[in-house]
Amino acid sequence: MIVVCPLCGCLCDDLVVTVEGGAVTSVDNACSLGAAKFLSQSRHRKPLVRDGGSWREVSYSEAIRSAGDILADAERPLLFGWSGTSAEAQCIGIHIAEAIGGVIDNCSSICHGPSLLGIQEVGHPGCTLGTVKNRADLVIYWGSNPIESHPRHLSRYTKFVNGKFRDEGHHDRTLIVVDIRKTDTAKIADEFIQIKPGGDYAVFSALLAILRGHADVLPASVAGIPRERLIWLADLCRNAQFGSLFTGIGLTQSPGRYKNVRSAIQFIDELNRYTKFTLTPMRGHWNVNGTNQTFSYLTGYPYGVDLSRGIPYYNPGETTIVDLLGRGEVDACLVIGADPGAHLPRRCNEHLARIPTIVIDPFVSLTSSFATLQIPVACVGIDCEGTGYRMDSVPIRLRKVLDLGLPNDEEVLSAMLEHILEREQGNSATVKERASPTAIGVPASR
Ligand code: SF4
Repeated sequence: MIVVCPLCGCLCDDLVVTVEGGAVTSVDNACSLGAAKFLSQSRHRKPLVRDGGSWREVSYSEAIRSAGDILADAERPLLFGWSGTSAEAQCIGIHIAEAIGGVIDNCSSICHGPSLLGIQEVGHPGCTLGTVKNRADLVIYWGSNPIESHPRHLSRYTKFVNGKFRDEGHHDRTLIVVDIRKTDTAKIADEFIQIKPGGDYAVFSALLAILRGHADVLPASVAGIPRERLIWLADLCRNAQFGSLFTGIGLTQSPGRYKNVRSAIQFIDELNRYTKFTLTPMRGHWNVNGTNQTFSYLTGYPYGVDLSRGIPYYNPGETTIVDLLGRGEVDACLVIGADPGAHLPRRCNEHLARIPTIVIDPFVSLTSSFATLQIPVACVGIDCEGTGYRMDSVPIRLRKVLDLGLPNDEEVLSAMLEHILEREQGNSATVKERASPTAIGVPASR
């Protein structure tokens, strides 16, 4: 069966999966990251609640009621993650946040949130990955190491692939890497430009000055890059037929943050006076871009949305997870499609360990180790369907390849929302125990 890979923002749609005896037995065309997800054995089958120093199995209906009660009773509930689940589930999550007056945030706040801030200020000169594949003769990765983070990005979309107007494949394309160290991607680039940490804003400003005819005002070197090398790079970009800049979290999580991205976009805008040039953020989780799409079309904001005032309020640095947990403000948290235990600062995880933390996830994660309640679900793209947005914002439907009898995120969240709304209406909880966990009710409003 040909399927889409639910791991990184490439959403490769050419994987061939074999299922035998109710399990995936082989995966062709995937990189090692994607194959490992399909072949993983680290799955829960029953909801678990922490009971003293050990775990106790509970039914799905009990787990969902309990999770709904915890969130609805909290003063400052936070719903975080969403990058590893479907767009459909994300929409239900936003409705839950609205119903309980909580804050809903996604992984963008710790990865490409600054890219979104830059884009909000100066726009997004983007294109699809198919356009890059067919047209780009110059590809630049800046602060990104796709050989490790998106292993098939180069072979499917940018360098080692033939395109409609690039039928000689990598012979038709120039690959440049700009980074603070010689990464694995830099080792296979045609040119590697090493930049001093924190120097991105200065270098984009210098490139912009060169394009605008002011190379003479530059110092002998900028962020460790000699002026002549910068002039060469600006000329290479200006003379490209079609250039594509891919920006990683080396730009968004280093000094300058969103201003680095804004200045990169201004450089691209200037290049478009001479040629065609585009910019694409290298989105990590398979549906982290989807979080920004769904959050934006339902609330008007891409992440860090506070619904406690009855209207959406957005202020990154105030309504984002690291800040909320760092201030000790949150008194209950739902984690879904993310693993803060692996990615957040220690003080944030210490706070999560002190408050009721509910984890909805197909897999055991580091966050499981301090969760209060763990609800296992079907994995989108493996044992249930769902929609994801590729890093270039193309929505792609993921397929179901096997049935493990687990409810999916949409079903669990819908039942939780139904329970919360019934509480609000003064009804007693009526989420009924079903014979099969896949029969969890979905509100009629959906
Ligand atoms: S590059 Fe990403 S989407 Fe493609 S197979 Fe690897 S992990 Fe999956």
